[in-house]
Amino acid sequence: MSGNSANQHHWSGVLSSALDAVGHTPLIHLKRIQEAQGLQCRLLGKVEFFSAGGSVKDRIAKRMVEEAEKDGRLIPGKSVIIEPTSGNTGMGLALASALKGYQCIITLPAKMSLEKEVMLRALGAEIVRTPSWDSPESHIGVAHKLRDSMPNAVILDQYSNPNNPLAHYHTTFPEIMASPSSDFENKEIDLIVAGAGTGGTITGLSDAIRDREKAFPEKNKTTVVAVDPVGSILGGGEPGNYAVEGIGYDFFPEVLKPNAPSIDDWVKVNDDEAFAMTKLMIRKEALFVGGSSGSALAGALKYLHSPKGQSIASNPNANVIIILPDGVRNYLSKDWFLEGAQGPSNPLREKMREIIGREL
Ligand code: PMP
Repeated sequence: MSGNSANQHHWSGVLSSALDAVGHTPLIHLKRIQEAQGLQCRLLGKVEFFSAGGSVKDRIAKRMVEEAEKDGRLIPGKSVIIEPTSGNTGMGLALASALKGYQCIITLPAKMSLEKEVMLRALGAEIVRTPSWDSPESHIGVAHKLRDSMPNAVILDQYSNPNNPLAHYHTTFPEIMASPSSDFENKEIDLIVAGAGTGGTITGLSDAIRDREKAFPEKNKTTVVAVDPVGSILGGGEPGNYAVEGIGYDFFPEVLKPNAPSIDDWVKVNDDEAFAMTKLMIRKEALFVGGSSGSALAGALKYLHSPKGQSIASNPNANVIIILPDGVRNYLSKDWFLEGAQGPSNPLREKMREIIGREL
């Protein structure tokens, strides 16, 4: 079976490797949260942790490697793949490297989780932890230094590689449109919301949406909203620290098209808002999503509850697609997840404590 068949929604048959299990993620109705928020529109999450390497970035890793093999930049058994990443692109590249026989080096900023580092090492990648964003010692600076002094080393460079947005143009978007669900029968997307890191996800989706609008001018126009953490400059504001991983930067990546007609609006979200929404999705929708998924949901809700979002929020035929980029298993050791994970005391636990006779 081909891993490229975008309209395939359930795995069947025998796949030739884990690379064939990249993408093909489910679109899941976040019905409980939609109702609790008093929204008439449908909230639909594209849940990317179901992909083989656990995130939306598997798609671009696979495409960047395959395209570089086609044009001869990568030679299995010979090339060394080096990439600066917040971890998830690294996971996809390390997965492809393990299967195809590349050496793989990932430069990873210090704030990124231990879980990502350990999984990368388990896949056979070499890891360099780096301090800050904007110095020669940054993950980008160190990756270039290694590449410049190693024969056969290649940086595929997700920040400038056109195959980053194209992966979403050719897989994420067609999968959404092909979703076989009565909850998405009319196949109209009224609002699509995604966080921006490199911007590949939102730019690729937006390019596909705008091309579809040109092909079918009678259809609804889709509003594209990008979500950016407080502390990142992409959606405006001052640079600063924040804990959520994978989104926001202190420079504009080349693949990001930040203005209309690509992106209609930016919404800023802080860590507390993001992590509260991550925990809400786990508790109410039983979806083990990561921190930037909480940012995306928080951004979508802010937009829908604002005056600009009113006509979509109150329309029962409107579909809102939210990209949920990775899973919380990437972040189990982080304080934001461990704090309050058990939830407040409740009558069931009180009863159990009475029966068992000790604190639980
Ligand atoms: N969330 C997470 C967890 C990520 O790793 C990334 C990739 N940096 C994103 C969101 C953003 O994706 P993109 O780079 O396509 O903007």
